[in-house]
Amino acid sequence: MQRTLILFKPDAVQRRLTGQLLSRLETKGLKIVGLKMLRVTPELSRQHYAEHVSKPFYPLLEEFITAGPVVALVAEGPKAVSVVRTMMGPTNGADAPPGTIRGDFGVSRQMNLMHGSDSPEAAAKEIAVYFKPEELLEYTSSLSAWVCASDEGK
Ligand code: UDP
Ligand code: MG
Repeated sequence: MQRTLILFKPDAVQRRLTGQLLSRLETKGLKIVGLKMLRVTPELSRQHYAEHVSKPFYPLLEEFITAGPVVALVAEGPKAVSVVRTMMGPTNGADAPPGTIRGDFGVSRQMNLMHGSDSPEAAAKEIAVYFKPEELLEYTSSLSAWVCASDEGK
């Protein structure tokens, strides 16, 4: 069982796509264990996108990610990290195939609606950046028995 950090970026919130994006994650069978709305500060942006801070596109990325509220989520499930990356599709919406979130909802390289951790290690770091331990909820979902077999986790 794995956890991943997801953001619905400011373009998704502004375009009122929060419900549709959340619905895709729930329908896939991922379990939401943390969920909140917040405004990313420049400091948080530099922390989150540390690997990109020195890149030419970073100033515009920071402007974008801090421009309005985001929705932050922690989703749990088998291979949650790669499942969410596959659901999002490639970075640039113009290249992302139909059926992926970035492919279905956008055409931009920057305004690509969603962030998803790219490895279990990144997920652990990013979850700790956005959520306090007590904001992540342990609960049993009665649907679990119909989402995965017992040898695949709950
Ligand atoms: N980004 C951008 N310009 C670029 C590349 C990336 O504005 O040329 C933004 C885009 O929002 C992307 C984020 O920076 O999602 C992080 O980039 P990364 O290459 O890590 O893409 P991701 O992992 O989100 O697919
Ligand atoms: Mg990335």
